[in-house]
Amino acid sequence: MPTIGIEAVPKANAIEAAKGVKRALAELKERFPSDLDYQVTIDTTRAVTEGIREIVAQKKLKGTKNPFIELQFLVLKSNQHQMKEIKKLGKDLGVNSVTLKTAQFYDFEKGNPQIPDINRFARYKKTNNGLYKIKNRLPNHCFRMWRGCVITWDGQVVPCCFDKDALFIMGSVEDSPFADIWANKNYSRFRWKILHNRKNMGMCRNCTEGM
Ligand code: SF4
Repeated sequence: MPTIGIEAVPKANAIEAAKGVKRALAELKERFPSDLDYQVTIDTTRAVTEGIREIVAQKKLKGTKNPFIELQFLVLKSNQHQMKEIKKLGKDLGVNSVTLKTAQFYDFEKGNPQIPDINRFARYKKTNNGLYKIKNRLPNHCFRMWRGCVITWDGQVVPCCFDKDALFIMGSVEDSPFADIWANKNYSRFRWKILHNRKNMGMCRNCTEGM
C-alpha cells in the first residue's frame, strides 16, 4: 500500500492544515476509481485536540476548575483569516480561554512575509527608511519576572517562554526546591539587568512585555 507523508511548513497552524488535507482528500476521492480508497493513518494534530478533550473531560469528572486551559493562536499573515475558526475550536473543545498572540521574528529589520497586515497583531512597524522596528518602547521593567517562569521538560527554570533555547537557566528543580531558585542569585542578577538596562539584553529587546 503506497503511503504519502504531508508536512506542514514551519509555523503553519497544524490543526487547520490537517483539516485542509482531509478536505482535499475527500474531494479527490470523488474522482478515484471504484477500487481505490485512502486512509489517514497518522494525524499528529489529534494528539493536541484529543489531549485537550481528555483534560476537559477529567476536569468535569472531578468537578474541578483546574488546570486553567488556554488555547493560544499565533497570528501570522498566512492564518490571520482563521481567527474566528480558532475561537470556535476553543469553544467546541471547552477550553477556558482562547488567546490571539503576536508572533516574534528573529530577523525582523528587513520585514518578514509572515508579519500580519492587521496592525494590532503585528509587533513590528515599518519606519520611514523602509526597515522595521519593534513597536515596544522597551521600558526597564518585566512583569513576568515577578509573576511566573517556565520549567523545561528536564526541570530547568528559565525566565519566560521567549527563552526558547534555555539560555538563561536560573536553576533546576531536579537539584533545588523551586522557592530557592526563585530567590537565588541568578534570578536576582537577571531581574536587576532588566530593571537597569533591558535594551542591553538581546532576548528582551524583541519582546512584547510592556507594550
Ligand atoms: S524576554 Fe520579555 S518576558 Fe522574557 S524576561 Fe525579557 S522582558 Fe521579560
